[in-house]
Amino acid sequence: MVQKIENGIFIRDVETKNIMTKSSLPVGGYSVNPYVGCTHGCKYCYASFMKRFTGHTEPWGAFLDVKHWPAIQHPQKYRGQRVVIGSVTDGYLPQEVQLRNTRQLLEQLKGSGAEILICTKSDLVLRDVDLLKEMGKVTVSWSINTLDEDFRADMDKAVSIERRLNAMKQIYDAGIRTVCFISPIFPGITDFKAIFERVRNQCDLVWLENLNLRGGFKQEILDYIAEKYPRFTPLYHAIYNKKDRSYFYQLEEQAAKLAAAYHCPFVDNELPYGRAEPGHPVIVDYFYHEEIRDSKNTGQRKLK
Ligand code: SF4
Repeated sequence: MVQKIENGIFIRDVETKNIMTKSSLPVGGYSVNPYVGCTHGCKYCYASFMKRFTGHTEPWGAFLDVKHWPAIQHPQKYRGQRVVIGSVTDGYLPQEVQLRNTRQLLEQLKGSGAEILICTKSDLVLRDVDLLKEMGKVTVSWSINTLDEDFRADMDKAVSIERRLNAMKQIYDAGIRTVCFISPIFPGITDFKAIFERVRNQCDLVWLENLNLRGGFKQEILDYIAEKYPRFTPLYHAIYNKKDRSYFYQLEEQAAKLAAAYHCPFVDNELPYGRAEPGHPVIVDYFYHEEIRDSKNTGQRKLK
């Protein structure tokens, strides 16, 4: 096993028997994570719970396990399945330039007939555009929750918003389906209408998701708000300590109006794979997505 420290990141090789994992996510049949850990180190990362299972003592964002797996034997068995790349890491971390794990994975899935969804905060995906164009149903999603580069830099170590927007445009122009994932929406800070204006001509889908504060990072985020955005402290207290959801219900109503104004479909669940009319992306309402699904897991929302 190779272990090293590069640019302050502890990197080691790990063997895994099967790279394809059945997913419990609402969006995916399988989730595939070519790495364990994520050097973007987002302060709000829901995946930071992974640290518990890996034995790492380094902070989230400061370690990376590089997976090695036997080549996928029968890729056709994933035909028609959605395969999500990067649910608890980013397949296009800076380390991917040398390591090429994600590229290798895509090559193994080429011709499988699987529907590929790549979730990223990087523009390195541009490297693989030729391969992606040969893969049939592919979607690339960028998480963008602000147009303010200072706030972005406070929250993550990924590439700038401008680079993400440029990459989205190039991938869209290459004929590949794109998503602007406006997530997590920070109350008072994320201006989803301004982001929508920037991306509406270069994406097929706009996903909206609220900031969820759980676990270890809740206090860190609340402290950050108190320091940098003290005027929002009462709002965050109401939402995250008193469970008041009215802010996000109002946002939902604003999103519905925005969709109507721009003649965009507004849905609360995924539609079958397809391209949107240019300038009219489908807006998908994922506010409180996990909690609002019904108990029979039919994918329908409960009425509020
Ligand atoms: S890019 Fe995603 S997986 Fe990586 S640290 Fe950020 S939220 Fe977590």
